[in-house]
Amino acid sequence: MNPASNLTEIKSNIPPHVKLVAVSKFHPKETVAEVYNAGQRVFGESRVQELDAKQAQLPSDIEWHLIGHLQTNKIKVIMPYIHTIQSVDSWKLLQEINKYASRINRRINCLLEIHIAKEESKFGFTFDSCREMLENEEWKGLGHISITGLMGMATYTDDTDVVRSEFRALKHFFDEIKGKYFSQDTQFRELSMGMSHDYRIAIEEGSTIVRIGTSIFGEREY
Ligand SMILES: *Cc1c(COP(=O)(O)O)cnc(C)c1O
Repeated sequence: MNPASNLTEIKSNIPPHVKLVAVSKFHPKETVAEVYNAGQRVFGESRVQELDAKQAQLPSDIEWHLIGHLQTNKIKVIMPYIHTIQSVDSWKLLQEINKYASRINRRINCLLEIHIAKEESKFGFTFDSCREMLENEEWKGLGHISITGLMGMATYTDDTDVVRSEFRALKHFFDEIKGKYFSQDTQFRELSMGMSHDYRIAIEEGSTIVRIGTSIFGEREY
């Protein structure tokens, strides 16, 4: 199978209300262009340097999502073109994104990354630290970011019960947050969960964005 036909296959498994982010990290721009030519317009990258290089060489109507950890000293370069930063994992980062976005008068879509997996990770809010940030209403004063939803990654395991329960917990948290802080805000509506091996479960549990790399592009060579 080639990436273009993989894309068609994946799209046939995804309902129309779910957005597909094609995760192109570690794949060359030529392969990304093949998938673009097959009709895909939304792509995700994990690292700023790679994103920046691809963005410069690929068509300008691509909607780019950053899905990996963002260091504050790298925010500036992506500000002119980034559509959504899915990996906002601290109050500090949210403030910095707002600062740089204001300099060029843009408003950037941000998903709050929530740590739901059993694996250790330095990144992502816990449910409590996310509640804490939102409870303190300072974020409402940030005029150059829109918090459009939440993102999370399940534990990497074949145990589908574990994966399902983590996605379910994140959906439950999403509903809580929506009700408490965003009930009047129609922009807060995205729940980004599901990758190549678990996107079907994620969609059953309420995902609105899936991030799929391997099933479209094949294995990555690190
Ligand atoms: C790499 C990555 C993906 C895509 O993973 P696949 O298993 O290749 O589909 C999705 N989300 C995040 C955050 C990633 O880093």
